[in-house]
Amino acid sequence: MELSRRVSSISSSATLTINAKAQELKKRGVKVISFAVGEPDFETPEHIKQMAIQAVLRNQNRYTPVGGILELREAVCSWVKANYGLDYKPEEVMVSCGGKQAIYNVLQAIINPGDEVIIPSPYWVSYPDMVILAGGVPKFLECPAEDSYKLKPEALEKAITPETKAIIINSPSNPTGVHYKRDELKEIAEVLKKNSHLFIISDDIYSSILFSGNEWINVVMVEEELRDRTIIIHGVSKTYAMTGWRIGYAIAHRDIIKAATKIQSQSTSNPCSIAQWASVAALTGDQSMVRGMVESFQRRCKYVMERLNNIEGIKFVEPQGAFYIFPDVSSFYGKRYGSYFVRDSLSMCEYLMDEAHVAAVPGSAFGDDKSIRLSYAISVRDLEEGLDRIERALKNLS
Ligand code: PLP
Repeated sequence: MELSRRVSSISSSATLTINAKAQELKKRGVKVISFAVGEPDFETPEHIKQMAIQAVLRNQNRYTPVGGILELREAVCSWVKANYGLDYKPEEVMVSCGGKQAIYNVLQAIINPGDEVIIPSPYWVSYPDMVILAGGVPKFLECPAEDSYKLKPEALEKAITPETKAIIINSPSNPTGVHYKRDELKEIAEVLKKNSHLFIISDDIYSSILFSGNEWINVVMVEEELRDRTIIIHGVSKTYAMTGWRIGYAIAHRDIIKAATKIQSQSTSNPCSIAQWASVAALTGDQSMVRGMVESFQRRCKYVMERLNNIEGIKFVEPQGAFYIFPDVSSFYGKRYGSYFVRDSLSMCEYLMDEAHVAAVPGSAFGDDKSIRLSYAISVRDLEEGLDRIERALKNLS
């Protein structure tokens, strides 16, 4: 069967593959502890669910405007004003089926064949493939652990060419959890200011999951001049434990929003009407659940760091947010246990899955083969048992 060259140019999501393997083992009765999840382990708050039920009963079951109902776009603007201090109008918001589709549509709207997109590495798995699907060329910019996985302004300056069309900044980051400080972002913004041919995609999806003592900040907040060429990506998935509802948005200059909405109009049309109404309740209702969730993630992060610190051979950079940690396990490469030989992050994850029944995602999927990604959005009991298992499995390697 001859399928398109486009589809063979991309890979399927590594996280989904690992989760599928974990499900397979679970079906066979094996207790797998999954550190591979990419979503909060909390329930969507009751008032949000009730709003969805009411939306169905009020017959809000029809097509909506392609870029989302006005009430939700207004709620997004109010939220952005309250949380970022930034002024946007509803016509500068496009609501999509998750932040993922918002990024996809934006890339389709701004990239021409051969345009380069700078992706600081490690990166979220989907960026490179979404760039490729838009006809662009991903340009990876290594941000090593020694630099806390953060982009350095000098390196950025060097990487920019006349072909560079965009850069994607994700903070707090998936997979590392690191977040830029104001002065760090200011330096990056200075470079971006000088290069006016670039769009900036600021993927702020984890901005609400930021641990105490850290200041929320993005490039537009440090440099107002970048506003018209920055696309902010956000959504309700992570902030309100609503990953299944599939609501995310792009916030940007109206011309960019208009173009991305045009793409959406010829692919999916509007995102689910009921989920849109539920998202209005999420953004405008009681926010105490978010604070509780973040505190819980911070406590769990502290526990995971304590445990990892006690495993000889593991190094990591302390996360400031999200619910991931990205330990460097490369000191175990070249070691064996029984028939297992661990040579890279993928064989490490296979070893952990088969031997310890623990699911983790290989760092290679995020552009860094030295590490594995652990999500701690799981119960404390599972964290304890899972880390015991990882510790035992690593100690067995020699
Ligand atoms: N951006 C990052 C960095 C993510 O980790 C994710 C989800 O895992 C998304 C965007 C998209 O989230 P959603 O499509 O659920 O809004």
